[in-house]
Amino acid sequence: MKKILVCVGTRPNLIKITQLENEFKKNGNFEFRLLHTGQHYDYAMNEVFFQQLKIRQPDYYLNVKADNQLDVISQIISRIQTPLKEYMPDLVMVPGDVNSTFAVGFAANRLGYKVAHIESGLRSFDRAMPEEINRILVDDISDYFFVSEESGKKHLLEEKKNPENIFFVGNTMIDTLVAFTPEIDASDILSGLKIQPASYALLTFHRPRNVDNKENLLKIIETINELSKKITLVFPIHPRTMKNIKSFGFDNLLPKENLIFTEPLGYFDFLKLIKYSKMVVTDSGGIQEETTFLQVPCLTIRPNTERPVTITEGTNQLLTLDKSQILLHASDILNGNTKTGKIPHFWDGKASKRIVETLDKIL
Ligand code: UDP
Repeated sequence: MKKILVCVGTRPNLIKITQLENEFKKNGNFEFRLLHTGQHYDYAMNEVFFQQLKIRQPDYYLNVKADNQLDVISQIISRIQTPLKEYMPDLVMVPGDVNSTFAVGFAANRLGYKVAHIESGLRSFDRAMPEEINRILVDDISDYFFVSEESGKKHLLEEKKNPENIFFVGNTMIDTLVAFTPEIDASDILSGLKIQPASYALLTFHRPRNVDNKENLLKIIETINELSKKITLVFPIHPRTMKNIKSFGFDNLLPKENLIFTEPLGYFDFLKLIKYSKMVVTDSGGIQEETTFLQVPCLTIRPNTERPVTITEGTNQLLTLDKSQILLHASDILNGNTKTGKIPHFWDGKASKRIVETLDKIL
């Protein structure tokens, strides 16, 4: 039996690994254990996903507790040594681009363990994004590269990674969406919020560039005010964004009508809201992919994206943080001029299966 250690730390990490354990079990040649760093730890950002997505309880929990990223990274590097030395995995798997991804990958590599990166090769070419640095660093020390879209493969080849270790398997986040479609469809969030299908736009903002900077957060709030005059807005708010709205004293600037604020939502409710929205306005990484898969128009308020297939093939459009541009594009969508798209190659719910089949051959 080959020993696998899958490592997660945040909400998007959890959503990228839900089908792996089952696939490893079905294959039969692997022992599977899960490690959680503790980077996201509260109910709304963590626990609800374990419950809904039937993720096993972590075999190892690092319990990192820090309010700044360097302490998160250093605590992970320090605390992961014991589980790694105890379990001695044949492979450590890390998804995505968060601080946990980098810290776990780096520590595992230093201790001589093989590392596989899920969602490898994505590049925004924007080094001001902490996630971009995490992507570059973790790919630099990874042994195996599991790629979700063509651009990932291209970047890894340009960076002279060994082509034999690059595997275009598809998108594991879409595996989760496909596997849980019945539960998503069964969510009663629309009636709970008293909204009708296609009568609202869904918003999410949490990128540091947009919400940590006072001026930019103010621009977002001004845009929300204008948008709310055109369509009802549903805004499940990320803890980071909520904290900044309060600390900058912006609470009173939000529209009093046509804006439904919620806590971060569970997966089923959130995906149901995407599915039935008129459009999504976001700065998320993963939501660009989910909207492309569900063929819902998406305006991504960022100067760049590491997921270009959502633009070239999907329903995504990039916009800078410019109120008039955003309003113009939103009006277009409301007037029925929507960007249609197709579902990218291998976004078919079987990426995790391909990963396991690949590992069965190479480990
Ligand atoms: N998500 C969720 N509830 C929410 C907001 C997001 O379940 O209230 C899901 C979303 O559908 C996607 C993932 O969380 O699967 C993306 O997380 P986020 O946008 O925080 O991270 P990013 O992808 O930008 O790293």
